[in-house]
Amino acid sequence: MTDTRVTLPEQGLDPDAVLAEMAALKEGDARWRAGRTFSLVYHQSDEHTALLQRAYALFLQENGLNPAAFRSLRKFETEVVSMVLDLLGGGPGSGGTLSSGGTESILLSVKAYRDHARATRPGLDRPEMVLPISAHPAFVKAAHYFDVTPVFIPLDPDYRANVAAAAAALSERTVLVVGSAPAYPHGVIDPIPELARLAAERGIGMHVDACLGGMLLPFLRELGHPVPPFDLRVPGVTSISADLHKYGFTAKGASTVLYRDLAMRQHQFFAYGEWPGGLFGSPTLAGTRPGGAMAAAWAAMRSLGRDGYLRSARVILDTTRALLEGIAAIPGLRVLGAPDMSVFAYTSDEVDILAVADQMEGRGWLVDRLQRPSAIHLMITPAHRDIVPAYLGDLRDAVAHVRAHPEAGQSGQAAMYGMLGRLPESEQGLVRDLILQHLDGTYR
Ligand SMILES: *Cc1c(COP(=O)(O)O)cnc(C)c1O
Repeated sequence: MTDTRVTLPEQGLDPDAVLAEMAALKEGDARWRAGRTFSLVYHQSDEHTALLQRAYALFLQENGLNPAAFRSLRKFETEVVSMVLDLLGGGPGSGGTLSSGGTESILLSVKAYRDHARATRPGLDRPEMVLPISAHPAFVKAAHYFDVTPVFIPLDPDYRANVAAAAAALSERTVLVVGSAPAYPHGVIDPIPELARLAAERGIGMHVDACLGGMLLPFLRELGHPVPPFDLRVPGVTSISADLHKYGFTAKGASTVLYRDLAMRQHQFFAYGEWPGGLFGSPTLAGTRPGGAMAAAWAAMRSLGRDGYLRSARVILDTTRALLEGIAAIPGLRVLGAPDMSVFAYTSDEVDILAVADQMEGRGWLVDRLQRPSAIHLMITPAHRDIVPAYLGDLRDAVAHVRAHPEAGQSGQAAMYGMLGRLPESEQGLVRDLILQHLDGTYR
């Protein structure tokens, strides 16, 4: 086997040459700016991105690990948390933390509930968390990291969590109930008040994952769009996560985790007093915390303001409606459930939707696929304002092509996804192994 390991250049290269090489590499990446992707990047406008770059650069080297050293960062963090608390119904006793992303917010909340249970329910071993199968895998990751057993509940035919199943899943070991606003796969909001009531009756916590919706739903509601209750205003909801680097339109590396009662946040923090290196306290999972992400979050929220987020929400809503109507008008296609926001999926009962997905990729769209049932997934941002006719035109062609060539599902990614999707429950270990092998190969 040839060794293709990259080593440090013996002599440092000219910075302009390095940057030119990077710019060239970028040419091969997903074309998010042109609205050809439906996940991963949330683009507001080029002017807004320029502001994020300047704010990030201003605090590129600063470290949020020590807020006494960087009072600027402490101000950014506390004010960003305060602004999100205000949007999501945080009362006087509430508070939260800025984290590096939705996953970290979720990990932190699960750790907080586990440690709260350890402190207040002596003798409790093997704590459990009740969550819908549509909840983000970050909860399963948290369960894995923190030794909390995930107890999954099924979805109703409308893809929202089944409340009766949640009630039946609760046990004397349960430390947390989870709901999403909305859940990533189908973009629907779980029955938060009902789930929160169950949790409250038991005296346990309820975390709402509003990583996607936290920075959009409040503005959609203000525009008159029907938004069911989902935030800290709902009795029994004890914490909520809301990402800033999604619909908050800030730079990557910013999310919030918010608690109804600051006492719960104490269980999130970590303190260690025995280290020769000094007294150590850390609010989140990370040690060093990039100041740029905090600065860009503050800059984004101050610069967009309520009116900016409302304008953006209007565009997102109108674009989503146009796509939903256009897709529903294509014979053979069907949107899953009744999406609450700007995230949705569609499938087909007549043609192989995974073959349609391959056809769309061939036409230059980066397609996200769902399983059980197979579907194509979209998340709409202002970058999609002008792509609706092009997308619908390509989609009509793609469906027609698959209708004319039903064997299309036997090749390409469709065949692989189709095969994996049909594997029985007992083969889930195999699927996991394949994913792990794929990860290993990706980072070779
Ligand atoms: C994106 C997302 C997460 C995880 O957030 P990351 O920032 O990707 O770590 C959690 N929950 C939902 C609903 C999400 O969409």
